[in-house]
Amino acid sequence: MIDLRSDTVTKPTPAMRRAMAEAEVGDDVYGEDPTVNRLQERAAEIFEKEAAIFVPTGSMGNQIAVKLHTRPGTEVIIEERGHIYNFEMAAMSAVSGTLARPVKSSDGSGILSWEDIAGALHVGGAYYVAPTGMIALENSHNLAGGTLLTAERTEEICERAHAINLPVHLDGARIFNASCALQTPVSALSRPVDSVMFCLSKALGAPVGSMLLGSRDFIDEARRWRKLLGGGMRQAGVLAAAGFVALEETPKRLPEDHANAKRLALGLAEMPGIVIDPERVVTNIVIFDVSQTGISADEICARLQARNVLASGFGSSIRMVTHYDVSSQDIDTALQAIKKSLEAGVQT
Ligand SMILES: *Cc1c(COP(=O)(O)O)cnc(C)c1O
Repeated sequence: MIDLRSDTVTKPTPAMRRAMAEAEVGDDVYGEDPTVNRLQERAAEIFEKEAAIFVPTGSMGNQIAVKLHTRPGTEVIIEERGHIYNFEMAAMSAVSGTLARPVKSSDGSGILSWEDIAGALHVGGAYYVAPTGMIALENSHNLAGGTLLTAERTEEICERAHAINLPVHLDGARIFNASCALQTPVSALSRPVDSVMFCLSKALGAPVGSMLLGSRDFIDEARRWRKLLGGGMRQAGVLAAAGFVALEETPKRLPEDHANAKRLALGLAEMPGIVIDPERVVTNIVIFDVSQTGISADEICARLQARNVLASGFGSSIRMVTHYDVSSQDIDTALQAIKKSLEAGVQT
């Protein structure tokens, strides 16, 4: 199987397995797991933030941030396809009592400008309008096709937001992909934000875990909410050990995933009925529209599965994600399978 559904499907590498087997552990609820502590310190150092906390999932990291930055009855400004709004079970309302204020990016890239955000702000206006509590950014933007938020844009948004006392959280599930594509250190992409979450379990290839980073006070409070949400783990060093290897080793090989995604996009652009702009594929996510093929996305995905290629259908689009378990040879094989699946034509 060539599994292009997501970069979450990677299996731990032999180096990760070894590190897990040999990990020194303790009870992390007591703060006594040396491997978790080492991972947290190393992440904080790389991101140049005061502190970091290991969380079981990216969703938990994001939702703790929403909880700490907002009060019930406030709104969270987020791009309309953002993960925090669309794929986290309405947790922002269930956990924090907040409402999403989804905003379109004016250029369609999924990347918000300050002007996009400004149109949705409720600050110091009529008392009967819910005030804005925070701004959520995403880099790279998953559902927009792995698009990028530059350090300059992030800085501008944060500067304007902070001037009116609004916190900014960055969903950086794939911030290392963004860093690689922009050739900008992750610290520069996250320096101005109040908090940032990144996933060890996506493109970095660890089996489990994400990190939430911010000020020391913010992370101390995050630890309380992690426990409340059921995320206080015990000998979590077994997991953190794999995360440490992922953090140190994987970022340098991400250019390979990006080259594979570009190769896939260029191949797709040649196929009749498939709509994709390969210029916009700059990280490891490839999203293409299939409505002009006359075959539904689900049907194409089913045909691909019969040819040992897995992809995800979303409405009239298909998403394919490259990762370290996919080689350039696999991309060529997948392209052949897609071609064959389309040639089969419309089934009645
Ligand atoms: C995957 C992902 C997350 C977190 O997902 P979990 O499955 O909860 O770890 C958050 N944001 C984005 C953009 C993601 O792609």
